[in-house]
Amino acid sequence: MTFEELGLIPPILRALTDYGYEAPSPIQEAAIPPALEGRDVLGCAQTGTGKTCAFATPILQRLQAHPAPKGVRPIRALILTPTRELALQIQENIAAYAKHLPLRSTVIFGGVGQNPQVERLKRGVDILVATPGRLCDLYNQGFLNFSKLETFVLDEADRMLDMGFIHDVRKILGWLPAQKQTLFFSATMPQEITELVSSLLHDPVRVAVDPISSPVEVIDQSVYFVDKVNKTKLLADLFRKDEIQNALVFTRTKHGANKVAGELQRAGIPAAAIHGNKSQTARQQALADFKAGRVAALVATDIAARGLDIEALSHVFNYNMPDVPETYVHRIGRTGRAGHTGVAISFCDYSEKENLRGIERLINKKIRLVSDHPWPMQVFELTRDSHGRVVCAEDMEAKAASREHKRARSMSPNAGHRAHHADASTPSRAGQEKAPRQRPNPLAGERIMDATARLLSSRAPANRDTGRTGAPQARQNGQQGTRKQQRPASGGAARRGRGDQRRSKPELRRSNQKDSTEQPSLMKPYYLNDEK
Ligand code: AMP
Repeated sequence: MTFEELGLIPPILRALTDYGYEAPSPIQEAAIPPALEGRDVLGCAQTGTGKTCAFATPILQRLQAHPAPKGVRPIRALILTPTRELALQIQENIAAYAKHLPLRSTVIFGGVGQNPQVERLKRGVDILVATPGRLCDLYNQGFLNFSKLETFVLDEADRMLDMGFIHDVRKILGWLPAQKQTLFFSATMPQEITELVSSLLHDPVRVAVDPISSPVEVIDQSVYFVDKVNKTKLLADLFRKDEIQNALVFTRTKHGANKVAGELQRAGIPAAAIHGNKSQTARQQALADFKAGRVAALVATDIAARGLDIEALSHVFNYNMPDVPETYVHRIGRTGRAGHTGVAISFCDYSEKENLRGIERLINKKIRLVSDHPWPMQVFELTRDSHGRVVCAEDMEAKAASREHKRARSMSPNAGHRAHHADASTPSRAGQEKAPRQRPNPLAGERIMDATARLLSSRAPANRDTGRTGAPQARQNGQQGTRKQQRPASGGAARRGRGDQRRSKPELRRSNQKDSTEQPSLMKPYYLNDEK
C-alpha cells in the first residue's frame, strides 16, 4: 500500500516523502481513507504508531479543498492533546505535512506566557493544537471562537482521564458545534472513555493497532543484575563501550533523574534530566539539546517521558525496573520506531527481581540476561526501615533529599537555592565552557529560575542598594534572587507582582516591561517559528 493509494493529494505526498515516510503505517492505512471521506474515526492506538499522520493528513486535505473565507481565518480544525510535549510534536508534524499547502497552524499550551499565543491566534489559524487548560483559559478570555470548526481530534483520551482533564474536555465539547467530524484516539478504553465515545461519535470507523502487551519485536532487550550503588557506573561504562548515539534513561523518581544525570555528566557523558519539577523552558531546552545531539543521555521519569517523540532513538535504559509491567512496554516502545532497530537495557537489583518476573510474564518471554559485566550483583537482601519493614530505597532517598532541601531553604533564603545548584541535574553549558566566574547554570536544579523569575528578580531586595536592576546584578554575583522569586512561571504574574510591590515600591513592573515569553534570549524557542 502507498500513500498515493490512500487518496492523498500531491502536495501532501511530496511533504511525506520530504519527511522520509515511504509507506503508510497500519493505522494510517486504516484511518486515512474514511477520514478523508469525512467519517468519524475511533482509533485504538498509542503514540509511536503513526497516528498523528493518520489524523493530520486528512484534516489538511479536507481544509485545502475548501479555502478559508476571506478575512481573519477561523479555526476549522482543533486537536486537543493532554501534554505540552505532545502538543508541540503534533504541531511540528502538521507544519511538516503542510509544508506545500497555504494552511496555517499553531499550538497553545500552559506554563508559558499567553501573549505570543494570543497574537498568533489573532492573526488567524486554520488548525489549532491545544492542551485543555490553556484552551479553557483563552476561550474564557474570548480569544477563541469555534463556530466554524469542521474537525475535532481528541488525542490520547485515556490519558486525559488519567491526568484529570476529562471535565475540561467535556466543557470544551460544549463549546464546539454539534455538526463536525470527530477523530478520537485512545490507547485503552476505560468505561468513562467508552461513554464519551458513544456520546461524541456518529457511526465511527473503528481502527485498532499495536495493543500494549505486544512489545515491538525489533527491539533487542537485555537485563543486567546489578546493585543499586553500581548502576550509574555500569551505565557510564556501557555509554563508553557501546555505540550509543542517544539514550532515554528511565528512573523511578525525579530526584533519581537529577542524580543520575549529574553523575553521568561527572563521568564525562553529556546528560540532562527531564521531569515535572523542571520548568517548561528547561524541559524544552533539554529535549532540543537531546534532539540536536548535544546531550547523549536524557534521564526522565515516566510521566515526563510520556509522549516524547524522538526519532531514531538508539537505546532505552530502565535504570529502575518499573513496578507496573505495562510501563516497561511503554518505555521500550520509545526505541525501535518507524522501522529503526532499537536496544532496551534494564538494570535490575535484588529488590526489583519480582518486577522483572512480572514483565516477563506480560511479554511472555524471558529477557536475555547479561552476566558478563564488571559489577555483578553482590547484595542479596532487601532494604528495610528502622522498623524492619521492606522499603524502596529510591523512594526513601528521594524523600530524604526533599526533607533536606526543605530544611536548607528554611535555614536561609538562599540556602535552598545553593542546594539546587550543587545538584547538577542538567548539563551545565557554563561548566562546559569553563566560565571564569562561578556563574550558576540557570537550567540546573529542580526548580530553575526561568525568564519570568529573572524579570521579577529586578526587585530583589539584596540588589536594591546597588541602584541597578537586580537581574543582571544577580547574574554577575552568581545569584538569582530570593527563594520567592524562584517560583516557576506557572503562578500568575499579577499575583507575584503584588507581593513584590509590597516589598519594593520604587521598582514596580514598568508598563513597557515585556512578558517573560517575549524575552528574546531565553524565550524564542524553535516551536515559535513554525508558522507559515
Ligand atoms: P506518532 O505515533 O504519530 O507519534 O508517530 C511516531 C513516529 O513515527 C514519528 O516520529 C513519526 O514521524 C513517525 N512516522 C509516522 N508515520 C510514519 C511513516 N509512515 N513512515 C515513517 N515514519 C513514520
